[in-house]
Amino acid sequence: MTRYIFVTGGVVSSLGKGIASASIGKLLETRGLKVALIKCDPYINVDPGTMNPFQHGEVYVTDDGAETDLDLGHYERFTKAVLTRDNNITTGKIYYSVISKERRGDYLGKTVQIIPHITDEIKNSIKRVSHAKKVDVVIVEIGGTVGDIESLPFLEAIRQLKLEMEGRAINVHVTLVPYIQSAGEIKTKPTQHSVGTLREIGIMPDIMLCRTQKTLTKDAREKIALFCNVHPDAVIQAIDVQSIYEVPANLSEQGLDSLIVRLLKLKGGKSDLTEWKKTVLEPLKSASREVEVAVVGKYIVLQDAYKSIYEALQHGAMNNNVKLAIRKVDSEDIEKNGPEKYLKGAGGILIPGGFGDRGIEGKISAARFAREQNIPYFGICLGMQTAVVEFARNVCGLKNADSTEFHRSVKFPVISLLEEQRKIKIKGATMRLGAYECRIKKGTKAYAAYKKDTISERHRHRYEFNNKFRDMLGKKGMVFSGINPQRKLVEIIELKNHPWFVACQFHPEFKSKPDRVHPLFKDFIKAARGH
Ligand code: GLN
Repeated sequence: MTRYIFVTGGVVSSLGKGIASASIGKLLETRGLKVALIKCDPYINVDPGTMNPFQHGEVYVTDDGAETDLDLGHYERFTKAVLTRDNNITTGKIYYSVISKERRGDYLGKTVQIIPHITDEIKNSIKRVSHAKKVDVVIVEIGGTVGDIESLPFLEAIRQLKLEMEGRAINVHVTLVPYIQSAGEIKTKPTQHSVGTLREIGIMPDIMLCRTQKTLTKDAREKIALFCNVHPDAVIQAIDVQSIYEVPANLSEQGLDSLIVRLLKLKGGKSDLTEWKKTVLEPLKSASREVEVAVVGKYIVLQDAYKSIYEALQHGAMNNNVKLAIRKVDSEDIEKNGPEKYLKGAGGILIPGGFGDRGIEGKISAARFAREQNIPYFGICLGMQTAVVEFARNVCGLKNADSTEFHRSVKFPVISLLEEQRKIKIKGATMRLGAYECRIKKGTKAYAAYKKDTISERHRHRYEFNNKFRDMLGKKGMVFSGINPQRKLVEIIELKNHPWFVACQFHPEFKSKPDRVHPLFKDFIKAARGH
């Protein structure tokens, strides 16, 4: 019998519900339980693929090619759960499905309503995951904050599910307990109000997870317990920590997983974070030498835009026993003032994915700087395309070589659209998405990293390396070290006479975990450390 944990949020957004859900998943896994995680997003977009990073942060891609919320990245980094498009439910998806059914005549004769049709669709989408995966526990995170109009149907659906489950479901409410500097006190009132709103909807919290800067006093804990109608032991403090990877241990020390197991009447052993502590937490603390990596992008002011990249770099640093410092460089600043001012002294340069031509010339200058100054370079997706454009222009003498994403009719289109992409008019979910096979050439840096012939990596792009230029660039020292065997598409390039210049068309950052670093991130940081 599958158990359910519904994670809701109160007071404000960005409380780390995703990390909390992922940490609960991690803790239950160490007890020998199998978990699945679902994120419900109340927006009307069918998926976040059509939003820009300022709106949404990173778009996380799963193996099956779903464009999903970045919280799924946390779920995969913390747990062994394999996620698919079913693990991210949006209002857009739910309505799309209900409206399609209505047009087909599935509800013939009926008025289609939020309750029961939309709520049933939500409940069935949640149950589908638990049936498909045969898991012990499904953790369902509801995006947004209790009280939002948008999330009401999701909350109503989990209220109904909780009733149906008869003791096999609990609600963990993540809330903010702010510290008011001038009063020198932490305040529980916003939490009381958010639980009040939750109760109006008919949901009683079972566990309060309190985000706080300061340690919760016994007094505050008791007050929260009393007002929110939970046992004082169920008031768990989630204090700010330096690294998100410390969260599972912090929660476990307060007995969170024991409490969950008790409330859900689950069997299973004791939680054991020994391995996690050894492979993840100790390296985080023990490193003394610092490696600085410059990340050149156009959303650098936004913490969430390159989430998986930053995490994967961190995994690389942990694995190489160094501390990571990230120098966030705005590619438009490079356009204005040149690369030297921003990139000099960096141990490595990374150009992440991106869309559109804003800031692109700055990225091209950054790739040139890395190549000419022998600074380790890691290009990802657009970062590979910029490296190719730069090499074509400045090494092969192809004046104004470019990607057709930036100039439609260019004389040397070294990056261009595949025939099949040219016909596409609809923007949603039509890129080259998800896992594709790639063959690695022996004797290359890519092979040194992966140590195998065939790999599988996740994609999210429309444009590709234009094979018409392969010979020309190859003759000048570009190595095509990763090729998709079915379509002969270039997936990895590197440079011969350079300490470490590797770029890939896919997104390796999505597959890196703190306890299983991605080989390219591992070797990039190693090269940066050497530099
Ligand atoms: N804009 C490029 C393309 O669509 C790169 C995409 C990316 O970096 N994810 O091909």
